Amino acid sequence: MIPIAKPWMGEEEREAVQRPLITGWVTQGPEVEAFEREFAAFVGAGHACAVANCTAALHLALEAAGVGPGDEVVTVSHSFIATANAVRYTGAMPVFVDIEAPTFNMDASRVAAALSDRTRAILVAHQIGMPADLGALVELATQHGIVVVEDAACAIGSEVRWKERWERIGAPHGVMACFSFHPRKLLTTGDGGMITTHDARLDGHVRLARQHAMSASDTRRHAATGVVLPSFDTLGYNYRMTDMQAAVGRVQLGRVPEMIARRRLLAARYDAALRGLDGVKTPVEPAWARTNYQSYCVWLPDDIDQITLMAFMRDQGVATRTGVMNAHQEGAYPQGTWRCGVADCDASCDAHTCARLPVSEAAFNRTLMLPLYHELEEEEVDTVVAAFVAGLAAQRA
Ligand SMILES: *Cc1c(COP(=O)(O)O)cnc(C)c1O
Repeated sequence: MIPIAKPWMGEEEREAVQRPLITGWVTQGPEVEAFEREFAAFVGAGHACAVANCTAALHLALEAAGVGPGDEVVTVSHSFIATANAVRYTGAMPVFVDIEAPTFNMDASRVAAALSDRTRAILVAHQIGMPADLGALVELATQHGIVVVEDAACAIGSEVRWKERWERIGAPHGVMACFSFHPRKLLTTGDGGMITTHDARLDGHVRLARQHAMSASDTRRHAATGVVLPSFDTLGYNYRMTDMQAAVGRVQLGRVPEMIARRRLLAARYDAALRGLDGVKTPVEPAWARTNYQSYCVWLPDDIDQITLMAFMRDQGVATRTGVMNAHQEGAYPQGTWRCGVADCDASCDAHTCARLPVSEAAFNRTLMLPLYHELEEEEVDTVVAAFVAGLAAQRA
């Protein structure tokens, strides 16, 4: 079976994970500190704060941006559910705008209509690694006095064209960017996340909140010569990363450029084989974006049934996935927990479908993700393509 994804790890990670076990400093400590420094340098950010996962990162980033009960955050439904969930954790309401079909990203031209006097932030996802239109979104946010927070869960190493230069996602271009190190992403620490920013005040906020808002950290108390009593002046969380995770992350970070080069090569092979097929649309990089190809997702021809094709390919030994989900189509999002980003929305759509989010809904069940990972062989790409082509032919016979 060719799997959909597989982490790329080696002997170096196995050695690194033992360092904290030997010293005995196993939770957030020197490895986390070093990982933060190296990560900030890699993406070009002033500060990086490691946390337990990207969901925690999004929660803290929105909170630090001042999002709270009664506020609205403009975002997409078409994302892993954690994007919208993080908005709700703050007590704010997610406002969903539709996506653009070629990039699966927020359609910047629809955002202005979604703003209200309650809007605090735009939460933009760089879906499956493809940078969203940050130039347009940051300009719009600035005009309206609100901020952009980036859900960069999938986008380690992706690049965006910014003031005539290519910069890495997470520099960041909004006020904060949040990364995930779940095994489905390029860089993995098992679970893990990172928040990057240029703003020392925001960095201070998330740094405090991730460790119970404890005024004196474990590391400071450990190093102190006298007695240090912590105080807890605000409501905090336990969102720490462990030193075992960070030790693995430091090695993984070094692998990212090679991972991206390999994925781009494999994606080009898919492109060449699939581009000419009747009705199939392959991924598109807009002028402002260089993706890391966290996933390779194609639009299916109108006459092809997605689930039938997935079953056919599975029988041929090839794992696939549907397109990215939509939060508004899930049971956790009944009416009243979100609204769509149009001024005259009367919230009268059926549960689990919204007439204002047609591209998001189509992108879930009219697309297919194909296997893509570092150790995938060129011949295996050809095997996937052959199964895909045979699957189309079988339905058209
Ligand atoms: C994976 C993912 C998340 C959640 O990341 P975790 O580290 O698993 O919490 C959030 N947003 C997007 C777009 C993702 O792909």
